[in-house]
Amino acid sequence: MRIGLFGGTFDPIHWGHLRSAEEVREAFDLDRVLFVPASIPPHKRGQTQTPARDRLQMVRLAVAKNSRFTVSTVEIARPGVSYSIDTIRHFAEDQHQGDSLYFIIGLDAFREIGTWKDFAQIFPLCNFIVTSRPGNGDSNPLRGNSIAVRRLFCYDFKQKIYHHRCGTSVHFLKLTDFAVSASDIRERVKQGKSIRYLVPSAVEAYIKKQGLYRLDEGSK
Ligand code: ATP
Repeated sequence: MRIGLFGGTFDPIHWGHLRSAEEVREAFDLDRVLFVPASIPPHKRGQTQTPARDRLQMVRLAVAKNSRFTVSTVEIARPGVSYSIDTIRHFAEDQHQGDSLYFIIGLDAFREIGTWKDFAQIFPLCNFIVTSRPGNGDSNPLRGNSIAVRRLFCYDFKQKIYHHRCGTSVHFLKLTDFAVSASDIRERVKQGKSIRYLVPSAVEAYIKKQGLYRLDEGSK
């Protein structure tokens, strides 16, 4: 099995997330993409006010009709801050012989990977698929990373991928630009604006029913 792990805050999940997961699945011939909502994302600590159970429920609704997309509660079930090293270790230990793990991540987030807990220990455990973000034309996933990250890889000019000495690799995939973000959606809801066609209709209905994002972050 070729398994993609797609982590995020998903506050809320939107078509940008879903379309990028689909393009990655197709390009890398993945059997399954696991969406892994973070409980307490380290880089957004104190910023994410939406309860994990709501974010999880929205991801469940969004992927319900796609048999290749599933949701993992591994981070939500784990107490404390959601460090990727713990999640990746969990899946690496769980996989069967011959399985390959691919961690799917946007270019913006990958550039910060040098600040992640135990980042050097993550690279031998899985491959990375770094995806473009709208408005950023760069296609080199290692550019802009810290030296501590860059020195762990060598570039294969023929295959256009970065190899780690443990045999794993870092790939880049240019996605169809879909300039939507969760923060923009939250802001639209707060202002009473439409979010139709930015999120799946079941997610839109859930946000409405639960009254999410309507209050100022500070007044909660
Ligand atoms: P926020 O606006 O609150 O920062 P977000 O929309 O970036 O949120 P996250 O849950 O933080 O969503 O992102 C999860 C992953 O999805 C990240 O790797 C991010 O780079 C990627 N991603 C988010 N939005 C898009 C998009 N429109 N196109 C491609 N990738 C995206």
